[in-house]
Amino acid sequence: MNIFDQMYIGGEWVDCSSSKVIEVENPATEEVVGTVPAGTRADVLKAVASARSAFESWQRSTVGERKELLQRVSDGIARRTGELAVAISVEVGSPMRIAGPIQAGLPKTVVDSYVDLLESFEFEHKVGNSLVVREAAGVVGAITPWNYPLHQIVCKVAPALAAGCTIVLKPSELAPTAAYLFADILHEAGVPAGVFNLVSGHGAAVGEAIAGHPEVDLVSFTGSVNVGKRVGELAAANITRTALELGGKSASVILPDADLAKAVKVGVHNAFLNGGQTCMAWTRMLVHADQYDEALAIAASVAASYFPGDPLDPATRLGPMASAAQRERVERLIGVAIGEGASVVAGGPGRPVGQDRGHYVSATVLADVHPDSTIAQEEVFGPVLSMIRFNDEEEALRIANNSAYGLSGAVWSTDERRAIDFARRVRTGQMDVNGGRFNPIAPFGGYKKSGIGRELGVAGLEEFLQMKAIQL
Ligand code: NAD
Repeated sequence: MNIFDQMYIGGEWVDCSSSKVIEVENPATEEVVGTVPAGTRADVLKAVASARSAFESWQRSTVGERKELLQRVSDGIARRTGELAVAISVEVGSPMRIAGPIQAGLPKTVVDSYVDLLESFEFEHKVGNSLVVREAAGVVGAITPWNYPLHQIVCKVAPALAAGCTIVLKPSELAPTAAYLFADILHEAGVPAGVFNLVSGHGAAVGEAIAGHPEVDLVSFTGSVNVGKRVGELAAANITRTALELGGKSASVILPDADLAKAVKVGVHNAFLNGGQTCMAWTRMLVHADQYDEALAIAASVAASYFPGDPLDPATRLGPMASAAQRERVERLIGVAIGEGASVVAGGPGRPVGQDRGHYVSATVLADVHPDSTIAQEEVFGPVLSMIRFNDEEEALRIANNSAYGLSGAVWSTDERRAIDFARRVRTGQMDVNGGRFNPIAPFGGYKKSGIGRELGVAGLEEFLQMKAIQL
């Protein structure tokens, strides 16, 4: 059991203002594996006050000091990678084969990218008779989800520290342990008192108190569209800047001249990564009508390798959904899809054979999905791939863009120029050509309802800066 009974505020572990706790569940066993304090508005007030007073000196820290701090944070993550990976696997249900390299490994890569960026980033430049200086945005309220719990924290905390901001973090109540371990890592790395503060708790209490606090200069939120809207409304009341990283319903478009087998295989793996609980997952696969049946057969055979198992077993590819609510959502949406005319070519509704406890669902491939249907429009956040036919490239483009979201996507063609031209016409923040790999220094974020703003790399640092023009 991981029992955390304090919060990290003002450089030390302090008691919560309430004695209420939140139980943390292992979604594979449905057993309680830990507790964290259920923070209150009073804890947020204290944390914001601490971040505000620390901002006075931290904003004036040198680039060298911030770089050294981030380097020590990176070293701390490296030392505790194994512990972080297991903690996240146990709380989220992520299979260890991805918990190590992605859940714990990627955050280190992101911190390192900001150590590198601080070597070269120009915080000042001249334009005409002005000196333009990029200053720290101020006190950052960071609110994060459970699916990649440490990565999403680091995508905010690393650039915020690099910029000279101070932070109040509220991690997801479903998977909070990584945030606690990270607070320890920051403390050991010597983060100055008040520069980083952790308040655990529910969204309605702690999240809303952060988003609506007038002394927070920037709210950086990752999560669902509905909560993002609420966060935006609360922040707007104070004209507080917001960065919103929300959901997705991304399309992988396989043009007829593509390597079909490779495109389908990579597409299925992408859709089912972390049990499909990935905001940038390609959950719609668009295939030319002439190749559709062949693509279905390949997809079904790849899906069959995703049999559900214990996330801690290194052979497991598919863990449980992170919560009972998430499992119910996936089951419900598969049912709705079938009701709207989709047919099941792999998986389907109901508890997978042999899994009588845990929030397991089957890796599911659906055929005959209409582009306007619920399953093609709503973010499922589970291992459910919708296969959609197209007859020509223009129709493929219309279907790819037929979404309220615009986070990510893919296009496949042996003609790279054709694929890049297609990628330019898709209204999303990222597009991968022929399986182009994830780039941790490329801007990440969404068009349309997928959000406002960008994380990672230079764009991710700029989110945490203000610009001042000094006329000479
Ligand atoms: P969620 O919106 O339910 O919760 C996210 C965070 O907001 C949690 O910490 C939660 O406690 C908090 N919260 C809840 N209600 C709140 C309120 N009223 N005010 C303030 N904060 C509140 O999302 P989730 O279920 O944790 O995560 C899944 C969602 O996150 C999916 O929609 C997914 O696409 C999205 N996501 C987006 C990205 C991205 O970078 N675009 C990355 C990962 C996840």
